[in-house]
Amino acid sequence: MIQPLVLIAGGGIGGLTMALTLHQIGVKCVVFESVRKLAPLGVGINLQPNAVRELYDLEISADDLDRVGLPAKEWALVGFNGNDIYSEQRGILAGYNWPQYALHRGHFHMFLYHEVLKRTGKGTVQLGQTVTGYQNNANGTVTALIEHADGKTARETGTLLIGADGIHSAVRAQMHPEQPPIHWGGAIMWRGSTLAKPTRTGSSFIGLGSHRHRMVIYPISHPDPTTGLATINWIAEVTVDSSEGWKESGWFKQVEIDDFIHHFDGWTYDWLDVPALLRGAQVAYENPMIDRDPIPTWQDDRVVLLGDAAHPMYPTGSNGASQAVVDTRLLGASLIEHGVTPKAFQAFDQKFCGPISEVVLRNRGAGPFGLLNLVDERCGGEFDNIDDVIPAKERSEFMAGYKATAGFAIEKLNNSPSTIQHGAKVVI
Ligand SMILES: Cc1cc2nc3c(=O)[nH]c(=O)nc-3n(C[C@H](O)[C@H](O)[C@H](O)COP(=O)(O)OP(=O)(O)OC[C@H]3O[C@@H](n4cnc5c(N)ncnc54)[C@H](O)[C@@H]3O)c2cc1C
Repeated sequence: MIQPLVLIAGGGIGGLTMALTLHQIGVKCVVFESVRKLAPLGVGINLQPNAVRELYDLEISADDLDRVGLPAKEWALVGFNGNDIYSEQRGILAGYNWPQYALHRGHFHMFLYHEVLKRTGKGTVQLGQTVTGYQNNANGTVTALIEHADGKTARETGTLLIGADGIHSAVRAQMHPEQPPIHWGGAIMWRGSTLAKPTRTGSSFIGLGSHRHRMVIYPISHPDPTTGLATINWIAEVTVDSSEGWKESGWFKQVEIDDFIHHFDGWTYDWLDVPALLRGAQVAYENPMIDRDPIPTWQDDRVVLLGDAAHPMYPTGSNGASQAVVDTRLLGASLIEHGVTPKAFQAFDQKFCGPISEVVLRNRGAGPFGLLNLVDERCGGEFDNIDDVIPAKERSEFMAGYKATAGFAIEKLNNSPSTIQHGAKVVI
């Protein structure tokens, strides 16, 4: 019997984790990645405990993750005046059986790449190969249409195709030709990282300001034992009128600190100097906050979408990368149950497309930063004691509601069985 072969479009966080999952469950795959040479691009991302659990099940250890990031200890919202609005512990400290990790996206991505090569061999990831479309064939196969970096085209045929090609997915564009253009709601992010001393717990995520004008700051490396300095990831963000759409060229470009630092003049506290933090960065990127309207299905016969190709979402809940990792495991479990067949994709799609689309829409509404909206509405951001503005019970209930929808509910996660049982394989 011919061995099934799964084709994967895109070798980002989702595509490479999918390759590791397929290898674990005994299915051969090949990843087509458009860039010619992978480089450690991007700044900070968070992996929530539900995703870290899946990485541990993939035999990626805490030591591995500690080399590309560090466990997050706290998530805190702070008002313009520097006073606390809300804080909670994260990961193991919060009662999860698994930590939350704050990581350097590029270093984590490179780690996954080397892990795929180590476990599956060099041929699994084909660089410089862009998937431009696909064809479901009458004989029960699927063909990926490929364009090589030198402009030559090719056709690769397999049993199934997974579109893990990110927010600008070509696979999704063919599956849903009528989809509206990228959605931008008015928020502009400037991202970067600076070597500086971590504040608060030493590994705190801090959301400072208001929903429409804020800084997000968190370390993504352990501190250097000699200097005490860590890589601090920051996102400076303002929301502007978006009625005329995004006028700049491109969705991700390098900018000068002077282009945006004036928005944060005077953001100086006894525990944090925002302008100094921004000035200390080696490089900064402008990146409008974008997502896409949810689609009714992620599946077209032998083709399915995962990660940002399926559900690009605002990073307000820190769950884009986590959801990509979790998707790969849910798909793996479905392949174990239904075999390397379109039925596996259909079951995955029917179960998760609706609920995850809700998370996309909920993140548009501010996600967990919605608490900052409430503070704004009730006191214009001016308060001495947050209990006078939003009682502690209301703050906790708000956060619990968000976490339940996003799949972060502690007891539910701790008590659920592994997505893929140890040693489980696809029967071929
Ligand atoms: C260069 C880069 C930098 C990023 N930086 C950050 C960051 O700093 N912070 C953050 O929160 N998120 C960042 N992200 C987004 C974040 O990685 C994703 O939201 C999340 O990890 C979901 O992963 P994904 O695999 O679905 O998508 P991605 O990680 O975006 O991966 C998609 C992959 O597919 C490749 N690709 C695209 N089109 C094709 C095609 N047609 N054929 C073949 N390959 C294709 C891309 O080159 C990319 O490697 C970044 C993404 C990229 C690509």
